[in-house]
Formats: sequence, structure tokens, C-alpha cells
Amino acid sequence: MVDLALSEVAEGVFELRLPIPFEDGLVNVFLFADGDDVDLLDCGMNSDESVNAIRAAVSQVGAKRIRRLVVTHIHPDHYGAAGVIAGDGGADLYLHRLEVPLVNPRYVELEHLVKEVHKYLLVNGVPAGEADVLSNSQRALSQVVSPAEPAVQLDGAETLEMGRRQLRVEWTPGHSPGHICLYESSEKLLFAGDHMLPELSPNIGLHPQSTPDPLHEYLMSLERLAAYEPQKILPAHGRPFTDAASRVAALVAHHRRRLDQILEIVSAGERSAWQLALELWGPREILYEKRLALQEGLAHLQALAVEGRLEKLVSPSAVRWRPPASRA
Ligand SMILES: [Zn+2]
Repeated sequence: MVDLALSEVAEGVFELRLPIPFEDGLVNVFLFADGDDVDLLDCGMNSDESVNAIRAAVSQVGAKRIRRLVVTHIHPDHYGAAGVIAGDGGADLYLHRLEVPLVNPRYVELEHLVKEVHKYLLVNGVPAGEADVLSNSQRALSQVVSPAEPAVQLDGAETLEMGRRQLRVEWTPGHSPGHICLYESSEKLLFAGDHMLPELSPNIGLHPQSTPDPLHEYLMSLERLAAYEPQKILPAHGRPFTDAASRVAALVAHHRRRLDQILEIVSAGERSAWQLALELWGPREILYEKRLALQEGLAHLQALAVEGRLEKLVSPSAVRWRPPASRA
């Protein structure tokens, strides 16, 4: 059962916690009330339980309809119910334009992406049998997502009216190419999506739908938001928190440690990302996590190659990583 106790995280802004089958089992979405209307930030997965909870919350805040649905990024737990809530007389959907082209290949016409991911797994050293299973894991996710056409494509830096508040769109690539946060400067409130989480380090992965250097983009956008010195951070997973500076320092330190660890492993000799991921994390039980581990390892390898600390070798059949010539 969904606990429908809404918490008012700022005047007229309510947090609703919806069920999801991964991470800590909950995603936080936010309702911004304005009389008969309410604006929604993220919408959970497409399940009856989750959508009914949103509907109940809308009437609980005294509203009759959802006016705008702003989505931080198109992962199933944030975007899944978009097709139910937006479109066809429903809410207007606002989405960053780098997220828009990811929707169709990921959730509607999956076959091309499944093939592309399969090839990407093979060239990165994943054994064929395992690549079959891992490339198919996307199919299950598409079942909890109902896509919708965006009414507005965002670039970042827009001022949006949410409820009775004005919030600025902050484009924060890394976890997803068009991930956005919303920032309200008067009360220094940061609605952080998956960008800045209190306990987890969000998955930053290099894969066929990512940008070419997601880790550097992530670290840069993390530090840009920390410079605002937000007073209250409202994440999509976990509880609200206040100390952005120390959280950002911890996240940055985590990635720097991982970069050093990877550099040390690869300094022993050339290898594939899959070999590296197995050495780094050990063989994993859960296949979905294995793919995330590979993607995360690749994002770090790519950052090291961009910085010139590793060499990246590519051919049609393999992507390999090795120490720079002078150090080999
Ligand atoms: Zn996400």
C-alpha cells in the first residue's frame, strides 16, 4: 500500500513517495498546488497503484487537474506514467530536448536499440551468452513506461511557473543526457531529481544512449549547483537534506577514488571494460546491475582517456583500454 501522507516540504509544495521495484523502493515526486490546478515534478512508474496514488494526492491538495508535468529525465521511475498523465486533454509535458530522442528507441521500437546494445556489450568484452540476456533486460522496463509527446522541449535556464512558484530549469547532464533539476532562488530550494542523492551515488554510465563523456559532465554540473549553496535539497530518492557542499564533496571524492582504482588496475596491462568491471566489483548476481556496473566502469575509463591518463583502442570487434605508451 502507498502511504498517502503527503509532506509539505515548502509552502504549497508537497512530496509524494511512490513505489518502485528497485533502489530503495520509493521515488519522490512533487506537487506544486495552485487552486484548482497542480503542477507535478516527475510521475513515477506506470502502475495502477502509483497512478491512483497521484490522483488521490491531487485531490488531497484541493486541486482538480494536473496542469503541467515536468520530468527530470526519462528513466522509468520518473517518466513511466507520463502517457497516462500528459497528452490527450491531460497535462502539458515538459522535457529536456536531449531526453526526447531517447524515448522511442528505448520504450517503443526497442529492436534497434536491443541490437545496438548487444553489439556494444560484445565489443566491450561481455561473453556472448551474457550479452544476449543483458541486451534483453530493456524489454521488461518498457512495460512500466507509457510514453507521451512533450508539449515543451526545454534547453535549460528557463523560468517555469510551478504552482505559485517560479523555478529555474538547471540542465544537469551525467546520469542522463537531458537530466534537469529545478531551482528556486528565493528560498534556495533545489529539486534535484537523481542528480544529487543523500545516500546513493547515481549511476553515471557510458552507453549507446549516453553523451560521449558523461562523468566529466556530471562532475561539472554537480559543482555548478553546489555553488548556488542551496538551503534544502529535495532528491528523487531518499530524504531531503541540507548540506549540499559536503554531499557534493563526498560524491566527487567517490568518483576520484574510483578513477584512481581503475587507473591502477589498467596499469597492469591492456583489458576490456568487462574485465575491468569484474575486477572492480566482482561477479554480480543480478544481471541488470552487471550492465550498470559495465556502463559505470566505461564512463570512468572514458574520462581517463579524455584526460590522457589512459589510451582507448577501437576496432569493429573490440574496445580496449591500456596505459599510455610512455608508462606501458
Ligand atoms: Zn534515473
